[in-house]
Amino acid sequence: MTDPHISGLSGKIVHDEIVPARAPWAHHVKQGETLRIVDLEGNQAVDFLIYSAADDSERYSAQDTVAAQGNLFLREGTVLLSNEGRPLMTLTGSAVEYHDTIGGACSCESNTLRYGHHTKSQHACVENFLEANLWEGRGKRDIVSNINFFMNVPVEADGALGIVDGISAPGLTVDLRAEMDVIVVVSNCPQINNPCNAFNPTPVRMIVAA
Ligand SMILES: [Zn+2]
Repeated sequence: MTDPHISGLSGKIVHDEIVPARAPWAHHVKQGETLRIVDLEGNQAVDFLIYSAADDSERYSAQDTVAAQGNLFLREGTVLLSNEGRPLMTLTGSAVEYHDTIGGACSCESNTLRYGHHTKSQHACVENFLEANLWEGRGKRDIVSNINFFMNVPVEADGALGIVDGISAPGLTVDLRAEMDVIVVVSNCPQINNPCNAFNPTPVRMIVAA
């Protein structure tokens, strides 16, 4: 039986891994390789950071990316830029219309503020980012504004933001071609207080094709 999650991916599969619900993940992706993220069960936010492998002080910049394309949303064709204005990765394919890069990553602090003190002990994306970054010696100051793949953060006419029901569905994918050797750091978002994960965090699949 053919695997529907790898259809359309060209080249040899060099990595294939399931990231469990709520877990951190990090991986080096070489220039020219494509990382495919599969939203296995649908409506799962994948919080995402990128660092240059050659010098991790060069990293994803939401501000540069948004300014360069003149649009708040990440879509097929979006070039993800670094704080040096250089392409890190390109969204070469997306089965979901758009992705967010302004909603930020959830933290124990923001959960407490938004949802009440009883959420303080809940696991959050910032802890996942910290854990995955610490594997290579990066710390809190290396966490910058991130991407939220498969997360729906509409911007209203008055500029207000929402975090609303996802527009993803089981098996939908996003493809990212590395434009230089990069380190990808992911939090498979554990949030259960808003609809970004349909109140039920689920696993995602990471496939790298060379
Ligand atoms: Zn989160």
